[in-house]
Amino acid sequence: MYFTVTTFGCKVNQYESSGISEIMKQSGYIPAELTHSADIHIINSCAVTENSVRKVKGLISRIKRENPLTNVVLCGCFPKAFPVQAAETGADTIVPGIFKGLDTIKPPPSPYSLYSPQSERTRAFLKIQDGCNRCCAYCIIPKARGRVKSRSIDEIQKEASFLAGVGHKEIVITGINICAYQSSLVKAVKAVAQIDGVRRVRLSSLEPDMISEEDIISLAECPELCEHFHLSLQSGSDTVLTRMNRKYTAREFAVQAETIMKHFPSAALTTDIIAGFPGETEEEFAETLNFAKKIGFAKVHAFAFSPREGTAAAKMTGQLPKKLKAERVAQLQQLEGTMRADFFERLIGTEREVLMETPFFGHTRCYTPIRTTVAYERNSIVEMTVTDAERDYCTAISNSLNQCSS
Ligand code: SF4
Repeated sequence: MYFTVTTFGCKVNQYESSGISEIMKQSGYIPAELTHSADIHIINSCAVTENSVRKVKGLISRIKRENPLTNVVLCGCFPKAFPVQAAETGADTIVPGIFKGLDTIKPPPSPYSLYSPQSERTRAFLKIQDGCNRCCAYCIIPKARGRVKSRSIDEIQKEASFLAGVGHKEIVITGINICAYQSSLVKAVKAVAQIDGVRRVRLSSLEPDMISEEDIISLAECPELCEHFHLSLQSGSDTVLTRMNRKYTAREFAVQAETIMKHFPSAALTTDIIAGFPGETEEEFAETLNFAKKIGFAKVHAFAFSPREGTAAAKMTGQLPKKLKAERVAQLQQLEGTMRADFFERLIGTEREVLMETPFFGHTRCYTPIRTTVAYERNSIVEMTVTDAERDYCTAISNSLNQCSS
């Protein structure tokens, strides 16, 4: 019997999909490619954007058209947040939220009870919490995933040990809102960092107002923590931030960014920005562009605002036309290209530690993609000097002669 798992959305979904694959394998199923016919197709969905929901619906129709006898399981945030729409997709089985196992598995395993060796051996995601207690006006996640639930430090350490034991050198701490981790994010980072074999700990997205300078100082004492901070900005305009029900001003965000750079001088700051939030004027959008330029992000994920039924923002007046939102996304992407080029330029001539994901490709601690012209052992950590910058990556050479002999 064969199965496939297709993932939409965030790192938490990717993490949960690894767990689903593990459950299926332990139930005797064999993983297959999506292009092959399988007995069960599991779709771990996302509800955050309309586009993602459209892709899920399209995939279900395609699978059922090509193989009407296959069993399509739809799980994840989409059926949890929009059960009526999900019921109309044609999926055979609908699991709102996390897929916990086939009915034949008794007792059904907890989503955390099976650790999942993840596809590439260098970097692994580790989920420390689920849910969010905030109410950002545009976000459907609290409805889909509920309130904050945190795992214990003990459980987190056991999973980190397992992941390090199967060869993952870098652990990405992930969750829906990791800053809301109950017994402090700093404790979770340090607990993971002290596991044998863990050489790097990376943080996923951070809420700018939920991390104090004291936390940042404590994080700076942890040499394994990568100098890469993804602070969710969403808008650089205070009036838009208020309408979004975000809990900080642009000024407070800038202070937080300065504090991080003070304690992590070689850090990369990355962010998410939503273009075209309801009522966003030309002036407000210009404030966002200017603010992003002032911070100098190394990377920006720019999204067009997508109204999600059941959120406050979907009911707001002043919804902008798709074309205008797309134009603003394009402007943000253009700015991102310039900021990224500046960031890469500043790296030239500096020494960076690179974790090799393939013989010729890896990432620095601040998550810069690095290409090399000589081969290094996969999953090795190599000290390099950055020699040049292209549009999407930098090139580097090793500071010693430890390249692969093969
Ligand atoms: S902090 Fe806001 S955007 Fe992030 S998950 Fe919670 S409600 Fe959604």
